[in-house]
Amino acid sequence: MAEQNIQFKKLVAHCKEYGFIYQSSEIYDGLGAVYDYGPYGVELKNNLKDYWWRAMVQMHENIVGIDAAIFMHPKTWKASGHVDAFNDPLIDNKDSKKRYRADVLVEDYIDKVEGKINKEITKARKRFGDSFDEAQFRSTNPRVLANQEKMDTIAKRLATAMSEEDMEGLKNLIVELEIACPESGSRNWTDVRQFNLMFSTQLGNIAGEEGKLYLRPETAQGIFVNFLNVQKTTRQKLPFGIAQIGKAFRNEIVARQFIFRMREFEQMEMQFFIQPGTEMEWYNYWKETRLKWHKALGHPGEKLRFHDHDNLAHYANAAVDIQFNFPFGFKELEGIHSRTDFDLNSHQELSGKKLQYFDPQTNESYVPYVLETSIGCDRMFLATMSHALVEEEVTGAGGKTSTRDVLKLHPAIAPVKVAVLPLKRNEEGLVSKAKEIFNQLRFSFNCQYDDTGSIGKLYRRQDAIGTPYCVTVDFESLEDNTVTIRERDSLKQERVPIEKVESIVREKVDMKQLFI
Ligand code: ATP
Repeated sequence: MAEQNIQFKKLVAHCKEYGFIYQSSEIYDGLGAVYDYGPYGVELKNNLKDYWWRAMVQMHENIVGIDAAIFMHPKTWKASGHVDAFNDPLIDNKDSKKRYRADVLVEDYIDKVEGKINKEITKARKRFGDSFDEAQFRSTNPRVLANQEKMDTIAKRLATAMSEEDMEGLKNLIVELEIACPESGSRNWTDVRQFNLMFSTQLGNIAGEEGKLYLRPETAQGIFVNFLNVQKTTRQKLPFGIAQIGKAFRNEIVARQFIFRMREFEQMEMQFFIQPGTEMEWYNYWKETRLKWHKALGHPGEKLRFHDHDNLAHYANAAVDIQFNFPFGFKELEGIHSRTDFDLNSHQELSGKKLQYFDPQTNESYVPYVLETSIGCDRMFLATMSHALVEEEVTGAGGKTSTRDVLKLHPAIAPVKVAVLPLKRNEEGLVSKAKEIFNQLRFSFNCQYDDTGSIGKLYRRQDAIGTPYCVTVDFESLEDNTVTIRERDSLKQERVPIEKVESIVREKVDMKQLFI
């Protein structure tokens, strides 16, 4: 855990030092759980959004995009259930005056028990070596079995308390498990209360409840209320999907873990409208499709896992998370939910407008079912950065070893695709040749020219921002129009004709390869 903490701190520091993420309003000491993306951060984030949009909209004939407004008619949030049920249970510690999410305190406790199991397994693996059979060990070791049973019982009680909105039951669980305030170690807790996560504001000059507006807590509702507009104007037949990327706002109780839990964040959501009764088929399809999308970026299978919801939301009849192994453990990265006809039905009821689809195959009109995939862009950013940032030892020309921080991003999403560097900064010939190449390449890619340091320093800087290729212009370049291309991960350098640089880089950074 200590090792993970160090890694996480390093990642946060790297994000700031290299212009990926800054704290919002830092000069005023920041604003809790709100962050700004810097010059490289915005490029990476845009590339992740582009990758998602292409995978959803460009690669599916039956998925189209929209960009709905953040403000919506306040009745939207009544119909969706957010006014009445978009709550988190909060609890205060009377001594430290710190506020926590009661369910998260219990989840953290469960994680600790899981940590104990993992420790036993690591120890046993060391002891038994190659002959170690993890499944057998898990099903026979008494300590592991006892801890597993403990975890399951607590998880079940938590799920029941959450779905029955039993705040007293939740408090009892915290007391029984003797959970202490992580800050002060005190067990002096208040009762658990429900807290609505929606931010509200006022419309124009209308005072009171009449003019109350909400900042959308999810982008999905903008899709639901536009369902018929989109279906009619694009003449889509079921099954078809609507995709959207946009900001969402939640007044999160606990502002922790950097951009994992923010108050203003961005979602990439897709609602897939289907015939009732086909939802399990599509649920499985989207589970596999989305997992493949993550793996194509180079995120290994062992860092990703499915986690079925113990506690289904009011609108869902099946729900699973794709969890990622963040520096603080496995946590939700994306949700896949079978939302039934809950949302369309509720909007139909409250608005009095029909939201039905006429099925030409069955000659019937009905409210479609919906399968949703929902991923936080910022969480995807964090997952990608945490996997990509590596500290490694490299051997230099003279056999000297040194360490470098390198961001091993997939080239297709790297903020800068290629950097053009003159071997020496004060050599007029090298500088003008390098600038000439840079001015040519910038038509095709996001590239950089840099002559502000020694070549070794320039390479390290490009490694730290994840640039997959560095083109170095040296004296030979002036004679034979060749340059070296250095590959970020392998550190291999290849001499190539200048006119080939563009096609070499293009092939490697093309997003197409993520879809094949
Ligand atoms: P959590 O249980 O972590 O609060 P959630 O289940 O409420 O998340 P959803 O409502 O399913 O999340 O939202 C879909 C996705 O939006 C999540 O998988 C996550 O990637 C992202 N997301 C949700 N809340 C936040 C937040 N506060 N900050 C950043 N991303 C978020």
